[in-house]
Amino acid sequence: MTLFESCVEQQTTESGEAHKYLTWRIVPLSGVLALQLQEDGRAALAPSVDASAPAVFAPHAGAGGRASAFLMTAPGAVVFVNGLPAASLTALQDGDEIALSASEVGRVYYTTDAEPEVVPYEETAEAEFCPRSKQRLHAGMPVVHCPGCGHPYLQSAEVPAYTYAEECEICHRASTLGLSWHPPEARLAGSFDLKAVLRRHATACAGAAAGEAEHAQ
Ligand SMILES: [Zn+2]
Repeated sequence: MTLFESCVEQQTTESGEAHKYLTWRIVPLSGVLALQLQEDGRAALAPSVDASAPAVFAPHAGAGGRASAFLMTAPGAVVFVNGLPAASLTALQDGDEIALSASEVGRVYYTTDAEPEVVPYEETAEAEFCPRSKQRLHAGMPVVHCPGCGHPYLQSAEVPAYTYAEECEICHRASTLGLSWHPPEARLAGSFDLKAVLRRHATACAGAAAGEAEHAQ
């Protein structure tokens, strides 16, 4: 389980103009995290739970090893889940948007997805095999547990079985060491949207080229 916290970064162009843009910072949800509204309107995550926090995220180890998370809100706190006022206790769903204000930076996102890690294999009562390389797994071998189904894959420099193909053989989750879910693209109000400008420019160029081609015929 992972939370995405907004992060304002600044980039200076060649002409010396400074542009602020919004990116997302990945925060693994492995313990209780408090959500606080900062003075600049940003919703920030903090590991220490302060009584003044309007909302708290709590991971929960569910039945069958399936982890889930809850959002608890303080009485009277203004917290929105997917645009609707949050109840005092909410069972979070993959892709939920949790907001403390209407501002782009006043929100965080939740996903059940997690960044897979390479860990030493722990032997189980029954013999297990890597679904891709078909090798028998032994204690201490470097493995990645697919975040989708939990199956262990061998992942070493010699046998990078987990990242060898694009998806998990069992559950078809993307078998990358990154996250398979990302928040929607966001930009700061009034900020410069370089991508939109480039898109407009590309359309204008394509239009001009088509016009020229027509003229040449
Ligand atoms: Zn899987």
